[in-house]
Amino acid sequence: MLGSTACLPMPDQRFDLVVIGGGIVGLSTALHAGRLFPKLRLLVVEKEDRVARHQSGHNSGVIHSGIYYKPGSLKAKLCVEGTAAMVEFCRQHAIPVEICGKIIVATSAEEVPRLHSLLERGQANGISGLKLLDREQARELEPHCGGVAWLHVPGTGITDYVAVCAKYAELIAAQGGTVSVGTKVTGIQRGGAEIVIETGRGTVGARYVINCAGLHSDYISHMAGERAEIRIVPFRGEYYDLAPHSEHLVRGLIYPVPDLRFPFLGVHFTRRVGGGVDVGPNAVLALKREGYARTDFSLRDVSSTLSYSGFWRMAGKYWRSGAEEFYRSLHKPALVRALQTLLPEIGGSDLIADGSGVRATAVGRDGSLVDDFQFVCSRNMLHVWNVVSPAATASLPIGREIMRMAQQGFGLESS
Ligand SMILES: Cc1cc2nc3c(=O)[nH]c(=O)nc-3n(C[C@H](O)[C@H](O)[C@H](O)COP(=O)(O)OP(=O)(O)OC[C@H]3O[C@@H](n4cnc5c(N)ncnc54)[C@H](O)[C@@H]3O)c2cc1C
Repeated sequence: MLGSTACLPMPDQRFDLVVIGGGIVGLSTALHAGRLFPKLRLLVVEKEDRVARHQSGHNSGVIHSGIYYKPGSLKAKLCVEGTAAMVEFCRQHAIPVEICGKIIVATSAEEVPRLHSLLERGQANGISGLKLLDREQARELEPHCGGVAWLHVPGTGITDYVAVCAKYAELIAAQGGTVSVGTKVTGIQRGGAEIVIETGRGTVGARYVINCAGLHSDYISHMAGERAEIRIVPFRGEYYDLAPHSEHLVRGLIYPVPDLRFPFLGVHFTRRVGGGVDVGPNAVLALKREGYARTDFSLRDVSSTLSYSGFWRMAGKYWRSGAEEFYRSLHKPALVRALQTLLPEIGGSDLIADGSGVRATAVGRDGSLVDDFQFVCSRNMLHVWNVVSPAATASLPIGREIMRMAQQGFGLESS
């Protein structure tokens, strides 16, 4: 993928716009920039050897409907819009996509009011087809599912976001932009009219820069001399595979009722568009921002987390939930017990440990988990600080929205 772009000579070139980060958000932003301004000299720099190496390539592959998000929030608006746009994009470009629907399961009487609130949220967000099911109706859709009350979300789908990113990159190149992989940003100088970006492959000049560096977005802001109002705290999400002999237990997507204080949806069963069923992800504090193994450790990343007062405030509020997640991460029988509330027939031998993903969770100084998408414009730079799930689903309208803000914020135009 994109092998030719990796070898592009680019030192000492000048660009109108440089986008830092070849994840789904940076690529969508560049795609919209090229569409809006066909003459724009546009560069995307990505430190890895290919696009979508981090969050955009380590996720559940779900096209969310938008049911979870506060009515009126950017997340709600862009997710609902993004669902339709993503399905259409995949169909247009022959990327595998399937609208398999989702069932959200209340596993106790205590969760039933929260399930009803979700229904109300979904309706307020304009999602059609939502329906509370009785046991018989739920069993028709998911014969093996447990629980006491069920909400059907028929418009939820699945796709392959790595393929989506590859297509975004291909279209950017076809529009005349450059995606330069293997190009790590190591410094940003903002003295004169031009922003100077130092990379591992030389220096480039830019009139405008958009920071879509995902798990490193606050580091990039800091490099550019900004005092980020948030800090990225990484939360790893571990996945299991459902063993082939148990895949028949899940037809579509089976989710718990989430705790809406957190930007995580709870461990769920997700059919993959290419076959197989994922179980996960949980949410445990990671010791390395782009570290996928439990033992991965970065002194810089751990220091960044532990030296941040917002982290300790967050830990003070949510230590109990965090400890429970850790326990289930380390103790498989506890995880199995939790999963059995959704799918009573499941046992430990049905779960095969698989990979993981790391979420770039933005935490405010007051210890709050930033809920909505967050973008900040400052002196010819725009920083994307919080684009957690459902940002893959919503990536097309997010890219459009970032470009609208860039036009408003610093009058972005091609030279
Ligand atoms: C476990 C998990 C499950 C998820 N499930 C879903 C889901 O089912 N549906 C959904 O809609 N969303 C989901 N999400 C959310 C979604 O995947 C992310 O919100 C989205 O991928 C964020 O994209 P991004 O471009 O901001 O970040 P990333 O994909 O992380 O991209 C940022 C890029 O910046 C690059 N970069 C960083 N620093 C530098 C530097 N110094 N120089 C150059 N490049 C740099 C990185 O290498 C990286 O490629 C999930 C996320 C996770 C982690």
